[in-house]
Amino acid sequence: MSEIQKFLFDGLPVRGAIVRVDTPWQEVLQRRGKNSETGPYPECISRILGQMTAAGLLMQSNIHFEGALVLQIQGDGPVRLAVAEIKSDLRLRATAQLAPSQKDNIATDASIESLFNVHGQGRCAITLDADEKRPGYQPYQGIVSLMDENGQTLPSLAAILQQYMQQSEQLDTVLVLAANDQVAAGLMIQRIPVKGEGNLAGAQHNTEEQDQLGHNEDFNRIATLASSLTEKELLELDTNTILRRLFWEETVSGVDTQGLMPHFGCQCDRERVTNMLRGLGQAEVTDMLEEEKPIEVGCEFCGAQYHFDAIDVAQIFAPHAAPASERIQ
Ligand SMILES: [Zn+2]
Repeated sequence: MSEIQKFLFDGLPVRGAIVRVDTPWQEVLQRRGKNSETGPYPECISRILGQMTAAGLLMQSNIHFEGALVLQIQGDGPVRLAVAEIKSDLRLRATAQLAPSQKDNIATDASIESLFNVHGQGRCAITLDADEKRPGYQPYQGIVSLMDENGQTLPSLAAILQQYMQQSEQLDTVLVLAANDQVAAGLMIQRIPVKGEGNLAGAQHNTEEQDQLGHNEDFNRIATLASSLTEKELLELDTNTILRRLFWEETVSGVDTQGLMPHFGCQCDRERVTNMLRGLGQAEVTDMLEEEKPIEVGCEFCGAQYHFDAIDVAQIFAPHAAPASERIQ
């Protein structure tokens, strides 16, 4: 069963969320497995992509924002790009692109460094892309390297995101993430900023003030408890059992998640693919048409195939055709 729970520690400036995703995560992997061009992911790629999906769900559930949260790792090694996208209603999709002919060379236990950061150029980005876009709208984006302050590649996605939260958002965060081919799961504990709204782009907190209030001690205690959770427990136990085992000495109260449940869903459609082809320009698309008839564009997230024959292409570039974005949807 998929589940997500948000919770607060009574009287303490600490919040948390825990997520466990099974069927929607299995669907991500199955759709990839059915793609005859790519085939299934190597095990270590599906593991990290599942962790990204769980982390994206935890972060999306914690912010007040209508739109997509996109967690990306851009790599300079065998993995070029890994993306997990979570909409406000917890609709999820995820994909990874491997460098050509790398698939069979990836070890089962490959490290973050050997997958994404061979030359130290790997980057992790979090984008908040609002559904409602006013003219001139720019999505919010934070980008960090995959290395610690000593120039060493961080050992895990959790470590990368903890550093991201600290550097970009000034949010003290503990993450435990795990995934296999059945389940993607995660636990997040976060210190609530003392001032301002507790959102991803939230306000800074005042450490001195919190020290005086004894809040650091409380956060540190809960952070230590959270860190003791193993990947095995996270994958095998339901969320209630985990919370009870970890925090039985704390007073934890649930936060209403308004019935939101992680589910698979892709936002691709023919209109977007048409816009993409229009963006490439008539010359290039006509060349593509000569190479293969019709043009086939596959969605990397869900595997949907879109076909464009010569007549479709002519219509895309017809002088009277309005840009698709201006049409009534
Ligand atoms: Zn799709």
